[in-house]
Amino acid sequence: MLASYLSAIPLPCVFIGQDKRVLGANNLALTLKPGLVEQRSYILMFRQPAFGAAVEQCLSTKETQRATYLHTEGQQETRYELTCSYITLPEATQPEVKGILVCFQDITQVQQAGEIRRDFVANVSHELKTPLTALLGFIETLQGPAKNDAEARARFLGIMASEAKRMNRLVGDLLSLSRVEEDARMRPTDAVDIRDLLRSVIRNLSEVAKDRLHQIKFAAPDAPVKILGDQDQLTQVFTNLIENAQKYGGETAQVTVTLEEFDWDATLRRAAVRVRVQDSGPGIEAIHIPRLTERFYRIDSHRSREVGGTGLGLAIVKHIVNRHRGRLKIASVLGQGSTFTALLPKN
Ligand code: ADP
Repeated sequence: MLASYLSAIPLPCVFIGQDKRVLGANNLALTLKPGLVEQRSYILMFRQPAFGAAVEQCLSTKETQRATYLHTEGQQETRYELTCSYITLPEATQPEVKGILVCFQDITQVQQAGEIRRDFVANVSHELKTPLTALLGFIETLQGPAKNDAEARARFLGIMASEAKRMNRLVGDLLSLSRVEEDARMRPTDAVDIRDLLRSVIRNLSEVAKDRLHQIKFAAPDAPVKILGDQDQLTQVFTNLIENAQKYGGETAQVTVTLEEFDWDATLRRAAVRVRVQDSGPGIEAIHIPRLTERFYRIDSHRSREVGGTGLGLAIVKHIVNRHRGRLKIASVLGQGSTFTALLPKN
């Protein structure tokens, strides 16, 4: 009878008798703790002090107790919240079944989500606080010591404008990110000519490029290349990637954009296009590559801020590519430049 009660509970759980022996465990608990043996003392099975304290407290007070239980398997650590409840099973079914039902609820993801949210809020606050502090400082100076200094005023207003633009870019990127996250589940359904889209992104960015050394090379098939996509979001992806190639590629970096189409791609298992954005810049050290798409991850924060970066560009790129059911790959060899490849399904 006890076994059937326990197997109906959708969480790992064990039943501990008043004599501290394990009287039953469901399959989920046996998966969690393969060496669990019934009729043995729970103390030998669960050696964590918090577990013991909660069980003992529950035995003596008969009140529900909670505790945290850490389960380690290899490198993986799972955090459970334990609930110990004193219960008596109906006597008609089986006399003398009194004891403690211990249920294990996996709270690892909830806790991680909480940490990510706290980190994110801390990062956003920090990113906004820096330009805001600068703005407040300059306003104070302009109201006081530099009140009648026309030259200083012009200079400070210039800096204030660039700090305000930085905040504006950050807020813009945050809004883009939340919009992309919002419709992440809905795959875009419009037909987009990706060759035409890349041409127009390259045209816009070539205009802002300072010199001819930064001219962008573009190689593409002769005919239009249609894919299912979101025009604005794809424009944002390739604007971010090409802008990064220009920003971080160094003064003399060559930027090459290549568009190829395939009737069959083994990774996506369907017809696909591949867009490669290659620069001949200093490259990226291997340890940074897996983390580049994290929000606010920068290799050199000072350099990123100097060139107007928000640290969100690649996070946005990754989200948009995922929404298109594509893949983003980053490859780099120090001293030989970097290649950012977006693989996108055609249909
Ligand atoms: P940011 O706004 O700082 O440019 P991104 O998310 O676009 O943010 O990029 C994250 C970091 O990745 C950048 O700060 C930079 O250090 C690095 N990075 C991105 N693209 C390149 C590139 N083409 N070459 C070298 N480093 C790059």
